[in-house]
Amino acid sequence: MGMFDEITEVPEQKCQGCGAVLGGWQSKDGPCECTEVAFWRVSNFYTSCAKCGMWHDFSLKTEPTPRPLSDYQLSIRPNGTAWDQLIKVTRS
Ligand SMILES: [Zn+2]
Repeated sequence: MGMFDEITEVPEQKCQGCGAVLGGWQSKDGPCECTEVAFWRVSNFYTSCAKCGMWHDFSLKTEPTPRPLSDYQLSIRPNGTAWDQLIKVTRS
C-alpha cells in the first residue's frame, strides 16, 4: 500500500513561478499504490517545481454529477494482492 500514484500523460507544463518544465505529477485519487495513472482518470493531481518549489495543483473544474450505482463496475480482489489483480463481478 502506497501513499500516492504517479500521474502520466500530462502535456508539458511550465512553472508559473520560474518557467521551468514541471514533472513528478502525483495524485491520491487513484489506488495510491505508487502505480502510474493517466491524469484524465483522476480529478486532482499536483506537483511542486523542482527549481523554485512552487506548488501546482490541478483540480477538475466540473463537479461530479449524481449517477446510479449501476453505472459502476464492481471489481474485487483478495486482501494482499496487487491493485491490478482486480476481478470484475457480473451482477444481474
Ligand atoms: Zn519554478
